[in-house]
Amino acid sequence: MLTKKGIPVSPGVAIAPAMVLDGEDQPIPRRTVAPNQVPKELARLDDALKASTAEVLELKDKTTARVGPELAAIFGFHVGMLADKTLVGEFRGAIENQRVTAEFAVYSVLKAMGKKFLQADSRYMRERVTDVWDLERRILRHLIGKTRDELGQLETSAVIIAHDLTPSQTASLDRSKIKGIATDAGGMTSHTAILAHALGIPAIVGLEDITRKVNTGDMVVIDGKRGIITIDPDAEQLMMSRKQADRMVAFEDKLGEIRDLPPETKDGTDINLQANIEFPNEIEQALNNGAKGIGLYRTEFLYLAATTEPTEEEQYQTYLEAINNLKGLPLTVRTLDLGADKMDKFHNTGTDASERNPFLGCRSIRLCLQNLPLFKVQLRAILRASTAGPVRIMFPLISNIMELRQSRMILGDVMEDLEEQGIPYRENIPVGIMVEVPSVAIQAKTFCQEVDFMSIGTNDLIQYTVAVDRGNERIASLYSGAHPAVILLIRDVIRAADKASVDISLCGEMASVPEYTMLLIGLGLRSMSITPPALPEIKQIIRAVSIDQCRRVARKAATFDSDREVANYLRDQLGKAMPGVFDGRSIGY
Ligand code: PEP
Ligand code: MG
Repeated sequence: MLTKKGIPVSPGVAIAPAMVLDGEDQPIPRRTVAPNQVPKELARLDDALKASTAEVLELKDKTTARVGPELAAIFGFHVGMLADKTLVGEFRGAIENQRVTAEFAVYSVLKAMGKKFLQADSRYMRERVTDVWDLERRILRHLIGKTRDELGQLETSAVIIAHDLTPSQTASLDRSKIKGIATDAGGMTSHTAILAHALGIPAIVGLEDITRKVNTGDMVVIDGKRGIITIDPDAEQLMMSRKQADRMVAFEDKLGEIRDLPPETKDGTDINLQANIEFPNEIEQALNNGAKGIGLYRTEFLYLAATTEPTEEEQYQTYLEAINNLKGLPLTVRTLDLGADKMDKFHNTGTDASERNPFLGCRSIRLCLQNLPLFKVQLRAILRASTAGPVRIMFPLISNIMELRQSRMILGDVMEDLEEQGIPYRENIPVGIMVEVPSVAIQAKTFCQEVDFMSIGTNDLIQYTVAVDRGNERIASLYSGAHPAVILLIRDVIRAADKASVDISLCGEMASVPEYTMLLIGLGLRSMSITPPALPEIKQIIRAVSIDQCRRVARKAATFDSDREVANYLRDQLGKAMPGVFDGRSIGY
């Protein structure tokens, strides 16, 4: 049995035999043709390009129908490349001038193009290289037949193990056969990650060498929530994973009942349970799972899924869609939080010299404050949409009070511009911040004087408090929400907010982990925003405990010196509060 931790990108448990895809495609040999064969090669090229375009357009339509237009926009880039006169001219030029076969022309031109993309300064361009390889495979398939197993035609259930998957491979997966995905490469924002999440396929990326550790046919277990893959699980592990998977299925079956029950403790205290989303089309699932609103809308995914920077109008329409989908429920829009954690880990290995310490670098609000036009376009779009429903604006990664003041000032400027132009917006729109840097947590009392609400972002707060990169699997055991220092910070922020009557919530992953629910409520938290699939599970715990019981748990947890003791204690208490439901699981982090 072997266990490996990667980057969790799509929750769920998958248990199935592995299907390992071959890492690299075979190179195409350079073959020349007689001069009189050149027109025939050109005709073959034209046919392959036409067939590829038709295929991509069909895939785009299918993807739009399955997961919405934002994700399908990925294929717009492919259609654009297939119609690009310069690129097609290069293919034709190679055939006419070097008299090579159509397949070698396509192969050599796209290989050179891919290399250029990989060397680009922009991380965005480097990430587009998978689109180039995707296109190469597609055109070559029309020229020389199948080059790789077709994932849409699997006969039995499998977990796909691959070096990387291209966007079209992921989009064409047969959901009934593909139980999970694990890849060597990729980051949280790779297209594979975004699509797998939207398709509901458990997935882990960034496993580095998983293709070398697994053979086709090996039994594997994927825990897409924690990012853990187990190869050849022993009987005990298999039993635990099956239990976990069954529990999830049972939960789904029970969703109907749980969804409409209030998220209140045994003694009748209401907990405001909201959801985190990346795209407006996730709202439906969040509402089906009982969310009372969206406490964190990560708008940067709009930028990451698009091929060009989204315009004000595009953003406005997207925010409006989110507001309309919520039918009057509240929406907290977080402004652009682009940072190292959102970038592709595989292609971000020291090439970007200007960001030697990306997590401490120009990310998030810092990036916005250095790119005011970009920031203002987003603020305009949010403000314009805010007349349609109860919207709040939240600034991420604030680390000192001047950043907050500057951000508010820019928001004020944008409001003035809109006023001058006679464009309506919500004048009293609540403005808040993420508390995800220890300096802000420590100074919470000061910040409370200048915000309408705060949301604790434990994903970053943990990494900055204990100095552990949240995406680095080699030190993952040091990254813990149960660290006593993290608990003290959370407690103090909640206290400061309560004292100042500032609305306080927590939207980091900690709120989605069952073992932390009693602790957080015991620390005084009455509002959480969590990943949509975790809503029923967390609501079930809320309904099974009392405030007094939670306070006792929080008081006792604060007496331990190490995260391990805290984690063991919390696991124990959850087991006691809900016997038989959470036995034998690990706290995750
Ligand atoms: C966080 O840091 O806890 C958070 C919710 O934001 P993100 O995970 O997007 O950094
Ligand atoms: Mg964060």
